[in-house]
Amino acid sequence: MSGPRHDVPVLHPLVPPVLDWFDGAARDLPWRAPDRTPWGVLVSEVMLQQTPVVRVEPVWRRWMARWPTPADLAEESTAEVLRAWDRLGYPRRALRLQQCARAVVEDHGGELPRTEAELLALPGIGTYTAAAVMAFAYGRRAVVVDTNVRRVLSRTLAGEALPPPSLSRAELRDAGAVVPDDDAQASRWNAAVMELGALVCTARSPRCDACPVAAQCAWRLAGRPADALAHVRRRQPWHGTDRQVRGRIMAALRAADHPVPDDVLADLVAGGTARGGTPVDDTQLHRCLAGLLDDGLVEVADGHHRLPR
Ligand code: SF4
Repeated sequence: MSGPRHDVPVLHPLVPPVLDWFDGAARDLPWRAPDRTPWGVLVSEVMLQQTPVVRVEPVWRRWMARWPTPADLAEESTAEVLRAWDRLGYPRRALRLQQCARAVVEDHGGELPRTEAELLALPGIGTYTAAAVMAFAYGRRAVVVDTNVRRVLSRTLAGEALPPPSLSRAELRDAGAVVPDDDAQASRWNAAVMELGALVCTARSPRCDACPVAAQCAWRLAGRPADALAHVRRRQPWHGTDRQVRGRIMAALRAADHPVPDDVLADLVAGGTARGGTPVDDTQLHRCLAGLLDDGLVEVADGHHRLPR
């Protein structure tokens, strides 16, 4: 007769092959190094939210060398912080990161808190970032769902080419059901499935022949059907958009030593009309400037613009 069975947590079938694959494929990124700090992990997650690894890595290295702790960042001038953010885009993230650093100093003695609830109470920290910090900084079980994870799970579990335009409750529930119970395995799974989405199960050309879960992927087994929601996905244009003009205004002000008058700014944003740059329509320029003022990314005094001090 066999003895009583001990309850061994059962792993979802996707987990073992993805963890094995990750053992050999994980990129050597500085925010994964053994000497990383929780604050360094948080900074990386904020930078990576809308910017690819290849652009984030050099900025993250310079940033962490200059401001290794929340206290260092909290004390810096906002203009310097925005300059160091450089071309990562969506610079409101830099402002929020500095506000977060100041809150960590004021409310937590300069140490990043260790619970999800306390992290969520910090400026600029949403559900995703709090979960990612719990997993990658503290090695705790969390359900970390970014665009890479959503894509892998929509293909493997749901048989869909791409996830729906916005994150649904059903996706969160399904993602949570795959995450192992054990803290260490869960933390590693989160990093591994994210990496699989970034390196193998990419949006445009998934490499199913190199994929560790090809044999159980519903989308591949169904013959890789076309994206059923292609007609509702908005392509985000770039050239000539307000986002592009805002980026050019920020680039001009980052490069300026002094406050910049209106007409000079228009020329800088155009890339120098005398040198063949493209003029920007006045209405668009002023709309974009007003938006940057509202966001606290630009200050104006006597018709001169500058980064906030
Ligand atoms: S088999 Fe292809 S589509 Fe499925 S998870 Fe792997 S890379 Fe993605």
